[in-house]
Amino acid sequence: VSASSSSKSATKTTVDSSTVPSQMKAWMYDEYGGVDVLKFSSDVTVPSVEDDQVLVKVVAAALNPVDFKRRLGKFQATDSALPTVPGYDVAGVVVKVGKKVTGLKVGDEVYGDISEKALDGPKQSGSLAEYTAVEEKLLALKPKNLDFVQAASLPLAIETAYEGLERAGFSEGKSILVLNGAGGVGSLVIQLAKQVFGASKVAATSSTSKLELLKSLGADLAIDYTKEDFEQLPDKYDVVYDAIGQGEKAAKVVKEGGSVVVLTGAVTPPGFRFVVTSTGSTLTKLNPYLESGKVKAVIDKNGPFPFDRVKEAFSYLETSRATGKVVVYPV
Ligand code: NDP
Repeated sequence: VSASSSSKSATKTTVDSSTVPSQMKAWMYDEYGGVDVLKFSSDVTVPSVEDDQVLVKVVAAALNPVDFKRRLGKFQATDSALPTVPGYDVAGVVVKVGKKVTGLKVGDEVYGDISEKALDGPKQSGSLAEYTAVEEKLLALKPKNLDFVQAASLPLAIETAYEGLERAGFSEGKSILVLNGAGGVGSLVIQLAKQVFGASKVAATSSTSKLELLKSLGADLAIDYTKEDFEQLPDKYDVVYDAIGQGEKAAKVVKEGGSVVVLTGAVTPPGFRFVVTSTGSTLTKLNPYLESGKVKAVIDKNGPFPFDRVKEAFSYLETSRATGKVVVYPV
């Protein structure tokens, strides 16, 4: 389900791998704060490539809430040093490979979340740049049927969706309630629960205008949180996946012995919180579902935002109203 028109999407790209410059254009900040600390620079040093890394020419990048929470300084204690080039999600083309790289070669079209640990020492040189250096193990080959915009939209969100479902012990025949079904992560939790894990019932919450989207993604029940309080409904679920920060309410609608996955906010027993670990193997595992079209990228229709409009893209994401993913393209 791409809400964007295909004319806006990236279907073909040509990347010259023979000439990697020493400096590049990138967004960066050298102090924590709001959108205004973001600066566009034309002379950021292209990152060097470690033995286990490849250099990716970025074609498209996607934004995640962690980008702005990090920029606001919420993770200062474990953040890498400033200045920061933000950006976790990338889709692009390999233009250089490190000495120990065995599975990727120059010219490969790849996608991934470039920081293995989202909060613990994330990369100083992120994906909102012309080039980014990434460990081979964090990347996967781009599904052939997806364009770069669609591919860039997926890694952090789909890896979070998948890891949360696995940690919750989700499996065939179980029921799930997804709180925030229309956001970047929730739109993928709905699809993975239904298409990959074989859920018996998927319910999800959103505001009125997004209920149809939830159903199109596979939700059996779409709950309008502006009209109904899910806590007051009779149903209880094997798993509640909280992608909005309603941990206390979430814990009230889980079945005895069930699990509550909490991505943000307070955790109430039996809820548990985790922070996503980037791994290319999850993407490789899910590629068949993406290639068959069973699982689809959901791109917010206000984008993709061109590279020079990254501030606007962040301001929009920070309203908490984005549907699916906010993507930056072309970079
Ligand atoms: P998004 O910015 O994509 O979520 C936006 C969506 O939130 C909108 O579509 C909006 O729908 C919906 N929303 C807002 N308020 C409510 C509400 N009260 N009930 C239901 N839906 C609501 O966020 P992501 O999906 O990218 O991330 C979700 C959260 O998870 C963030 O806090 C993020 O930081 C966190 N996260 C944590 C990770 C981890 O590893 N722990 C990894 C990834 C994300 P509407 O307009 O209909 O309200």
